[in-house]
Amino acid sequence: MATGVSISQEQAENEESESAVVTARRQLERAAALLDLDPNVIERLKHPQRVERVSLPLERDDGTVEVFTGYRAQHDSVRGPFKGGLRYHPEVNEEECVGLSMWMTWKCAVMDLPFGGAKGGVVVNPKLLSQNEKERLTRRFAQELRSVIGPMHDIPAPDMGTDAETMGWFMDAYSMQEGETTPGVVTGKPPVIGGSYGREEAPGRSVAIVTREACKYYSQPLDETTIAVQGFGSVGANAARLLDEWGANVVAASDVNGAIYDPDGLDTEAIKSHGEEPAAVTGFSGTEALSNEELLTLDVDVLIPAAVGNVLTESNAGDVSASMIVEGANGPTTSTADSIFERRDVPVIPDILANAGGVTVSYFEWLQDINRRGWSLERVNEELEAEMLSAWTSVINAYESEDEISWRDAAYVVGLKRIVEAHESRGLWP
Ligand code: NAD
Repeated sequence: MATGVSISQEQAENEESESAVVTARRQLERAAALLDLDPNVIERLKHPQRVERVSLPLERDDGTVEVFTGYRAQHDSVRGPFKGGLRYHPEVNEEECVGLSMWMTWKCAVMDLPFGGAKGGVVVNPKLLSQNEKERLTRRFAQELRSVIGPMHDIPAPDMGTDAETMGWFMDAYSMQEGETTPGVVTGKPPVIGGSYGREEAPGRSVAIVTREACKYYSQPLDETTIAVQGFGSVGANAARLLDEWGANVVAASDVNGAIYDPDGLDTEAIKSHGEEPAAVTGFSGTEALSNEELLTLDVDVLIPAAVGNVLTESNAGDVSASMIVEGANGPTTSTADSIFERRDVPVIPDILANAGGVTVSYFEWLQDINRRGWSLERVNEELEAEMLSAWTSVINAYESEDEISWRDAAYVVGLKRIVEAHESRGLWP
């Protein structure tokens, strides 16, 4: 898989600090160069279809009014309604929303879901809001976005700083304004109001499925596979527990405070995940304490970064000893680190495939809402398994059809080809 990419120091530094939209555009150009695609369509895909910017006046609990800014970036809808999360975070900005909306377009297309990409959020630290303030802000946000969202137009979901409860408020505010209960306007809701069973576990489950299949691809028996997982949250803990159940040996796990290691294998069920008890990993007894940085360079078969972005960088990619990396978090590998892994022949199975179980079960939730009929957890998991295997097979085919191509490029090629073909079939209107 080595491509002999050579990177100057200046180029490396620029790449480490580039914004989400610059990264997304560069990845688009890179994948487009591998395919004989219409450059006019690629040009269109470099830009979002629309970015909505709204002002959100919020009456604080003390009676004063503060105005927050919200965004919704809608990148491309050639294959279906826009789909993507809403985050509440002080660093939300327009560029980031556009870049993340582009990633959602590729992710939905790799999974062959009938959705395009969107992302949005509010520039706010949700920890500084009371529960009532967060509810009022969410209801106002739903009202301000009402003309650009809808079950057939744009379907938000939870992201950083938002959760199932937030989606419940959002769906209620939209439904009250529309005059009818509209569960399909958002996904990630509680099941009692149209949410799907298995949605919360889905990104971790898809990471586990892709890890299992990638081990099979490289003739690595799962019951002889050691795994280190950075971040024991929703994605990391669910992936670790399933892989443990399927016979793999999860030897290390971490949270924001540090890592634990046991070469004989951790009891992944006994360690509390972030959702069960935040920051409980390092308190787990009978294991060796490590730093997060040491976990990333442990001598294991598979490394699953499932905490935050940009943890595998130019400075540590050369020291990673794992034979394979499966991206659980969004964007854990910087572009420079990616090139280093390519040179070192370390396969990196990309986020847009590995953690796409989340958006896939969101699609199932949307189908359930539109049909007004819920699915059992067994059905959700069976259908997720089938969708993941189908996407993995498409990515393998792309990977094997080119001489020197990374798994990331292969996933982009699969997604981009579907998007460009849809644009070509529909044409440019007017
Ligand atoms: P989470 O909040 O449930 O868990 C995050 C975990 O990472 C926690 O254990 C936390 O302590 C740890 N952590 C935080 N900062 C860290 C750091 N600097 N170093 C090491 N550990 C750190 O989050 P999550 O929902 O599991 O999401 C994790 C990643 O997966 C994020 O990149 C997210 O965007 C991505 N993702 C999440 C979903 C989803 O639906 N949950 C879907 C797709 C992708």
